[in-house]
Amino acid sequence: MKHKICTLGSHSALQILKGGRDEGFETVLIAEKKRLKPYESFRVADHIIAVDKFADAKDRDDELAAMNAVLIPHASFVNAFSLAEIDELKTPYFGNKKVLAWETDRKKQRQWLAEAGLKLPRIFEKPSDIDTSVIIKFYGAQGGKGYFLAHNQKEFEEKIKQHPDQKYIIQEYIVGAPVYIHYFYSPLTEELELMGFDRRYESNVDSIGRISAKDQLDLNIETSYNIMGNTPLVVRESLLPEIFEMGEQVIAASKKWDSRGLFGPFCLETIVTPDLDFFVFEISARIVAGTNPYIHGSPYSDLRYNKPMSTGRRIAMEIRLAEEQNALERIFN
Ligand code: ATP
Repeated sequence: MKHKICTLGSHSALQILKGGRDEGFETVLIAEKKRLKPYESFRVADHIIAVDKFADAKDRDDELAAMNAVLIPHASFVNAFSLAEIDELKTPYFGNKKVLAWETDRKKQRQWLAEAGLKLPRIFEKPSDIDTSVIIKFYGAQGGKGYFLAHNQKEFEEKIKQHPDQKYIIQEYIVGAPVYIHYFYSPLTEELELMGFDRRYESNVDSIGRISAKDQLDLNIETSYNIMGNTPLVVRESLLPEIFEMGEQVIAASKKWDSRGLFGPFCLETIVTPDLDFFVFEISARIVAGTNPYIHGSPYSDLRYNKPMSTGRRIAMEIRLAEEQNALERIFN
Protein backbone atom coordinates (compact mmCIF):
# COMPACT_ATOMS: atom_id res chain seq x y z
CA MET A 1 0.00 0.00 0.00
CA LYS A 2 1.34 3.42 -0.99
CA HIS A 3 2.00 5.91 1.80
CA LYS A 4 -0.46 8.65 2.68
CA ILE A 5 0.78 12.15 3.47
CA CYS A 6 -0.48 13.16 6.91
CA THR A 7 -0.17 16.27 9.07
CA LEU A 8 -1.97 18.35 11.70
CA GLY A 9 -4.38 21.03 10.52
CA SER A 10 -2.43 24.23 11.20
CA HIS A 11 0.76 26.10 10.17
CA SER A 12 1.55 24.79 6.63
CA ALA A 13 -0.94 21.90 6.39
CA LEU A 14 -2.69 23.26 3.29
CA GLN A 15 0.63 23.42 1.46
CA ILE A 16 1.80 19.99 2.67
CA LEU A 17 -1.43 18.23 1.66
CA LYS A 18 -1.66 20.00 -1.70
CA GLY A 19 1.97 19.06 -2.34
CA GLY A 20 1.20 15.43 -1.46
CA ARG A 21 -1.72 15.39 -3.89
CA ASP A 22 0.44 16.90 -6.65
CA GLU A 23 2.91 14.02 -6.24
CA GLY A 24 0.14 11.42 -6.46
CA PHE A 25 -0.38 10.61 -2.77
CA GLU A 26 -3.62 10.33 -0.82
CA THR A 27 -3.72 12.75 2.10
CA VAL A 28 -4.83 12.52 5.72
CA LEU A 29 -5.49 15.53 7.95
CA ILE A 30 -5.82 15.51 11.72
CA ALA A 31 -7.83 18.62 12.50
CA GLU A 32 -9.23 20.20 15.60
CA LYS A 33 -13.03 20.23 15.39
CA LYS A 34 -13.14 23.99 15.92
CA ARG A 35 -10.77 24.60 12.98
CA LEU A 36 -12.12 22.31 10.25
CA LYS A 37 -13.55 24.97 7.97
CA PRO A 38 -10.51 25.91 5.81
CA TYR A 39 -9.54 22.29 5.26
CA GLU A 40 -13.02 21.36 4.10
CA SER A 41 -13.28 24.47 1.97
CA PHE A 42 -9.93 24.02 0.20
CA ARG A 43 -10.50 20.28 -0.34
CA VAL A 44 -6.90 19.23 0.21
CA ALA A 45 -7.56 16.20 2.45
CA ASP A 46 -8.82 12.80 1.29
CA HIS A 47 -9.37 11.73 4.91
CA ILE A 48 -10.06 14.00 7.87
CA ILE A 49 -9.66 12.77 11.43
CA ALA A 50 -11.35 15.28 13.73
CA VAL A 51 -10.05 15.58 17.31
CA ASP A 52 -10.90 17.90 20.19
CA LYS A 53 -7.29 18.96 20.57
CA PHE A 54 -4.08 18.06 18.73
CA ALA A 55 -2.63 16.30 21.76
CA ASP A 56 -5.37 13.64 21.30
CA ALA A 57 -3.85 12.69 17.95
CA LYS A 58 -1.30 10.45 19.68
CA ASP A 59 -4.19 8.12 20.61
CA ARG A 60 -4.79 7.64 16.87
CA ASP A 61 -1.25 6.36 16.26
CA ASP A 62 -2.31 2.73 15.56
CA GLU A 63 -5.02 3.88 13.18
CA LEU A 64 -2.59 6.13 11.29
CA ALA A 65 0.07 3.41 11.09
CA ALA A 66 -2.56 0.98 9.72
CA MET A 67 -3.51 3.53 7.04
CA ASN A 68 0.17 3.68 6.03
CA ALA A 69 0.31 7.36 6.89
CA VAL A 70 3.58 9.26 7.08
CA LEU A 71 3.68 12.23 9.45
CA ILE A 72 5.04 15.51 8.14
CA PRO A 73 6.09 17.67 11.12
CA HIS A 74 5.67 21.44 11.29
CA ALA A 75 5.92 23.85 14.22
CA SER A 76 2.36 23.21 15.47
CA PHE A 77 3.08 19.48 15.29
CA VAL A 78 6.20 19.66 17.45
CA ASN A 79 4.43 22.01 19.88
CA ALA A 80 1.52 19.59 20.32
CA PHE A 81 3.62 16.72 21.71
CA SER A 82 6.59 16.20 23.98
CA LEU A 83 9.84 14.89 22.53
CA ALA A 84 9.21 11.56 24.27
CA GLU A 85 5.73 11.31 22.72
CA ILE A 86 7.10 12.04 19.27
CA ASP A 87 9.82 9.45 19.82
CA GLU A 88 7.28 6.76 20.67
CA LEU A 89 5.05 7.19 17.62
CA LYS A 90 4.76 4.06 15.48
CA THR A 91 3.60 5.98 12.43
CA PRO A 92 6.60 6.86 10.24
CA TYR A 93 7.86 10.42 10.62
CA PHE A 94 9.56 12.34 7.80
CA GLY A 95 12.84 13.64 9.19
CA ASN A 96 15.50 12.82 11.75
CA LYS A 97 13.97 12.87 15.24
CA LYS A 98 17.42 13.27 16.80
CA VAL A 99 17.59 16.80 15.42
CA LEU A 100 14.57 17.81 17.54
CA ALA A 101 16.61 17.48 20.71
CA TRP A 102 19.42 19.69 19.38
CA GLU A 103 16.98 22.29 18.18
CA THR A 104 14.86 22.62 21.32
CA ASP A 105 17.92 22.97 23.59
CA ARG A 106 19.05 26.57 22.98
CA LYS A 107 22.64 25.77 24.02
CA LYS A 108 22.94 22.80 21.67
CA GLN A 109 21.36 24.74 18.84
CA ARG A 110 23.89 27.52 19.31
CA GLN A 111 26.78 25.07 19.44
CA TRP A 112 25.57 23.46 16.19
CA LEU A 113 25.32 26.81 14.38
CA ALA A 114 28.69 27.92 15.79
CA GLU A 115 30.34 24.68 14.64
CA ALA A 116 28.86 25.40 11.21
CA GLY A 117 30.90 28.62 11.24
CA LEU A 118 27.89 30.96 11.10
CA LYS A 119 27.84 34.44 12.66
CA LEU A 120 25.59 34.50 15.72
CA PRO A 121 24.30 37.38 17.88
CA ARG A 122 26.07 37.44 21.24
CA ILE A 123 24.31 36.06 24.32
CA PHE A 124 24.66 37.86 27.67
CA GLU A 125 24.74 35.48 30.60
CA LYS A 126 23.93 38.17 33.18
CA PRO A 127 22.32 41.61 32.97
CA SER A 128 25.52 43.33 34.18
CA ASP A 129 27.25 42.08 30.99
CA ILE A 130 24.91 44.09 28.72
CA ASP A 131 27.08 46.50 26.72
CA THR A 132 24.90 47.06 23.64
CA SER A 133 21.24 46.96 22.56
CA VAL A 134 19.64 43.63 23.44
CA ILE A 135 16.45 41.70 22.73
CA ILE A 136 14.95 39.69 25.58
CA LYS A 137 13.34 36.45 24.41
CA PHE A 138 11.10 34.27 26.53
CA TYR A 139 11.24 30.51 26.35
CA GLY A 140 8.28 28.95 24.60
CA ALA A 141 6.95 32.39 23.64
CA GLN A 142 5.92 31.10 20.22
CA GLY A 143 5.64 33.95 17.84
CA GLY A 144 7.75 36.48 19.66
CA LYS A 145 4.92 37.80 21.85
CA GLY A 146 6.19 39.93 24.74
CA TYR A 147 9.83 40.13 23.55
CA PHE A 148 11.30 43.48 24.47
CA LEU A 149 14.37 45.59 23.79
CA ALA A 150 16.73 47.13 26.33
CA HIS A 151 19.79 49.29 25.86
CA ASN A 152 21.49 48.83 29.21
CA GLN A 153 21.24 46.94 32.48
CA LYS A 154 19.02 49.57 34.17
CA GLU A 155 16.45 49.51 31.39
CA PHE A 156 16.51 45.71 31.35
CA GLU A 157 15.87 45.49 35.10
CA GLU A 158 13.02 47.96 34.89
CA LYS A 159 11.28 46.12 32.04
CA ILE A 160 11.84 42.56 33.25
CA LYS A 161 9.72 43.36 36.35
CA GLN A 162 6.64 42.99 34.16
CA HIS A 163 7.61 39.36 33.44
CA PRO A 164 8.13 37.67 36.80
CA ASP A 165 9.03 33.95 36.82
CA GLN A 166 9.53 33.74 33.06
CA LYS A 167 12.66 32.07 31.64
CA TYR A 168 14.44 34.25 29.11
CA ILE A 169 17.66 34.85 27.22
CA ILE A 170 19.35 38.18 26.61
CA GLN A 171 20.60 38.39 23.04
CA GLU A 172 22.46 41.11 21.17
CA TYR A 173 19.99 43.08 19.06
CA ILE A 174 21.24 43.18 15.47
CA VAL A 175 20.13 46.21 13.50
CA GLY A 176 19.40 45.11 9.95
CA ALA A 177 16.94 43.44 7.60
CA PRO A 178 15.34 40.16 8.71
CA VAL A 179 15.66 37.44 6.04
CA TYR A 180 14.31 33.91 6.48
CA ILE A 181 16.04 31.43 4.18
CA HIS A 182 14.21 28.26 3.13
CA TYR A 183 16.32 25.24 2.19
CA PHE A 184 15.70 21.60 1.35
CA TYR A 185 18.44 19.01 1.70
CA SER A 186 17.91 15.66 -0.03
CA PRO A 187 19.68 12.69 1.54
CA LEU A 188 18.94 10.74 -1.65
CA THR A 189 20.76 13.10 -4.01
CA GLU A 190 22.91 14.78 -1.33
CA GLU A 191 22.00 18.11 -2.88
CA LEU A 192 21.10 21.27 -0.97
CA GLU A 193 18.33 23.18 -2.73
CA LEU A 194 17.35 26.80 -2.14
CA MET A 195 13.54 26.97 -2.02
CA GLY A 196 12.98 30.66 -1.27
CA PHE A 197 12.89 33.48 1.26
CA ASP A 198 10.31 35.31 3.30
CA ARG A 199 9.83 38.26 5.59
CA ARG A 200 7.61 38.02 8.59
CA TYR A 201 4.76 40.40 9.18
CA GLU A 202 4.63 41.01 12.90
CA SER A 203 2.32 43.02 15.09
CA ASN A 204 2.92 45.67 16.17
CA VAL A 205 6.56 46.09 15.10
CA ASP A 206 5.78 46.19 11.37
CA SER A 207 3.14 48.86 11.74
CA ILE A 208 4.75 51.30 14.14
CA GLY A 209 6.17 53.26 11.19
CA ARG A 210 2.61 54.16 10.18
CA ILE A 211 2.38 56.68 12.97
CA SER A 212 4.71 59.57 13.77
CA ALA A 213 7.52 59.23 16.31
CA LYS A 214 5.68 61.75 18.48
CA ASP A 215 2.53 59.63 18.50
CA GLN A 216 4.57 56.51 19.25
CA LEU A 217 5.97 58.23 22.34
CA ASP A 218 2.64 59.74 23.38
CA LEU A 219 0.92 56.35 23.12
CA ASN A 220 3.77 54.75 25.09
CA ILE A 221 3.95 51.86 22.60
CA GLU A 222 6.05 48.82 23.48
CA THR A 223 7.17 46.91 20.43
CA SER A 224 5.92 43.35 20.11
CA TYR A 225 6.85 40.69 17.54
CA ASN A 226 3.69 38.61 17.39
CA ILE A 227 3.70 37.02 13.95
CA MET A 228 0.49 37.17 11.93
CA GLY A 229 1.69 36.34 8.42
CA ASN A 230 4.55 36.13 5.92
CA THR A 231 5.40 37.98 2.73
CA PRO A 232 7.60 36.81 -0.18
CA LEU A 233 11.09 38.10 -0.78
CA VAL A 234 13.88 37.74 -3.30
CA VAL A 235 17.44 38.67 -2.38
CA ARG A 236 20.28 40.30 -4.29
CA GLU A 237 21.63 37.64 -6.60
CA SER A 238 25.20 38.35 -5.48
CA LEU A 239 24.27 37.08 -2.00
CA LEU A 240 23.24 33.64 -3.23
CA PRO A 241 26.69 31.96 -3.17
CA GLU A 242 27.07 32.78 0.53
CA ILE A 243 23.50 31.66 1.22
CA PHE A 244 24.17 28.23 -0.35
CA GLU A 245 27.42 27.96 1.59
CA MET A 246 25.69 28.72 4.92
CA GLY A 247 23.15 25.94 4.31
CA GLU A 248 25.86 23.48 3.30
CA GLN A 249 27.85 24.26 6.45
CA VAL A 250 24.80 23.58 8.62
CA ILE A 251 24.27 20.20 6.94
CA ALA A 252 27.96 19.27 7.25
CA ALA A 253 28.01 20.21 10.96
CA SER A 254 24.85 18.15 11.60
CA LYS A 255 26.47 15.07 10.06
CA LYS A 256 29.27 15.29 12.62
CA TRP A 257 26.67 14.87 15.37
CA ASP A 258 24.72 12.07 13.70
CA SER A 259 25.52 10.18 10.50
CA ARG A 260 22.19 11.05 8.85
CA GLY A 261 22.23 14.58 10.22
CA LEU A 262 19.63 17.14 9.22
CA PHE A 263 17.63 16.50 6.05
CA GLY A 264 14.42 17.71 4.43
CA PRO A 265 13.28 21.33 4.74
CA PHE A 266 14.89 23.78 7.15
CA CYS A 267 15.17 27.52 7.63
CA LEU A 268 17.92 29.85 8.78
CA GLU A 269 16.46 32.91 10.45
CA THR A 270 18.82 35.81 9.89
CA ILE A 271 19.30 39.53 10.23
CA VAL A 272 21.41 41.10 7.47
CA THR A 273 23.43 44.14 8.56
CA PRO A 274 24.21 47.17 6.36
CA ASP A 275 27.61 45.51 5.68
CA LEU A 276 25.63 42.53 4.33
CA ASP A 277 26.75 40.21 7.12
CA PHE A 278 24.23 37.47 7.90
CA PHE A 279 23.64 36.98 11.62
CA VAL A 280 21.73 33.76 12.29
CA PHE A 281 19.54 33.95 15.39
CA GLU A 282 17.70 30.64 14.97
CA ILE A 283 17.32 27.50 12.89
CA SER A 284 14.00 25.76 12.27
CA ALA A 285 14.74 22.17 11.29
CA ARG A 286 11.52 21.60 9.35
CA ILE A 287 9.10 23.34 6.99
CA VAL A 288 8.43 26.95 8.06
CA ALA A 289 5.21 28.91 7.52
CA GLY A 290 7.26 31.38 5.49
CA THR A 291 7.06 28.88 2.60
CA ASN A 292 3.26 29.35 2.44
CA PRO A 293 3.36 32.22 -0.08
CA TYR A 294 4.89 29.70 -2.50
CA ILE A 295 2.22 27.01 -2.78
CA HIS A 296 2.59 27.46 -6.53
CA GLY A 297 6.40 27.55 -6.27
CA SER A 298 8.89 30.37 -5.65
CA PRO A 299 11.11 32.12 -8.23
CA TYR A 300 13.91 29.79 -7.13
CA SER A 301 11.94 26.54 -7.28
CA ASP A 302 10.73 27.66 -10.70
CA LEU A 303 14.35 27.97 -11.86
CA ARG A 304 15.23 24.57 -10.43
CA TYR A 305 12.13 22.54 -11.41
CA ASN A 306 10.35 24.52 -14.11
CA LYS A 307 7.02 23.42 -12.60
CA PRO A 308 5.13 24.44 -9.44
CA MET A 309 7.23 23.04 -6.58
CA SER A 310 6.33 24.14 -3.07
CA THR A 311 8.35 22.93 -0.10
CA GLY A 312 5.36 20.74 0.79
CA ARG A 313 5.46 19.18 -2.65
CA ARG A 314 9.25 18.78 -2.44
CA ILE A 315 8.78 16.71 0.74
CA ALA A 316 6.24 14.47 -1.04
CA MET A 317 8.61 14.14 -4.01
CA GLU A 318 11.38 12.94 -1.70
CA ILE A 319 9.04 10.30 -0.25
CA ARG A 320 8.03 9.22 -3.76
CA LEU A 321 11.68 8.92 -4.83
CA ALA A 322 12.57 6.98 -1.67
CA GLU A 323 9.66 4.59 -2.33
CA GLU A 324 10.89 4.08 -5.90
CA GLN A 325 14.46 3.48 -4.73
CA ASN A 326 13.50 1.30 -1.76
CA ALA A 327 15.31 3.79 0.45
CA LEU A 328 12.63 4.75 2.97
CA GLU A 329 14.95 4.06 5.91
CA ARG A 330 17.00 7.06 4.78
CA ILE A 331 14.16 9.54 5.25
CA PHE A 332 11.85 8.05 7.89
CA ASN A 333 12.13 7.77 11.64
P1 ATP B 1 10.22 31.08 16.26
O1 ATP B 1 8.73 31.24 16.11
O2 ATP B 1 10.95 31.20 14.97
O3 ATP B 1 10.63 29.92 17.09
P2 ATP B 1 9.94 33.45 17.77
O4 ATP B 1 8.81 33.85 16.91
O5 ATP B 1 9.72 33.08 19.17
O6 ATP B 1 10.76 32.30 17.09
P3 ATP B 1 12.09 34.98 16.85
O7 ATP B 1 11.79 34.54 15.47
O8 ATP B 1 13.31 34.46 17.49
O9 ATP B 1 10.88 34.70 17.78
O10 ATP B 1 12.13 36.55 16.87
C1 ATP B 1 10.99 37.42 16.78
C2 ATP B 1 11.36 38.72 16.10
O11 ATP B 1 12.50 39.30 16.66
C3 ATP B 1 11.64 38.61 14.61
O12 ATP B 1 11.10 39.75 13.96
C4 ATP B 1 13.12 38.69 14.48
O13 ATP B 1 13.48 39.25 13.26
C5 ATP B 1 13.47 39.57 15.66
N1 ATP B 1 14.77 39.17 16.21
C6 ATP B 1 15.04 38.00 16.83
N2 ATP B 1 16.33 37.96 17.24
C7 ATP B 1 16.87 39.13 16.87
C8 ATP B 1 18.16 39.71 17.04
N3 ATP B 1 19.13 39.05 17.67
N4 ATP B 1 18.38 40.95 16.55
C9 ATP B 1 17.39 41.62 15.92
N5 ATP B 1 16.15 41.15 15.74
C10 ATP B 1 15.87 39.92 16.22
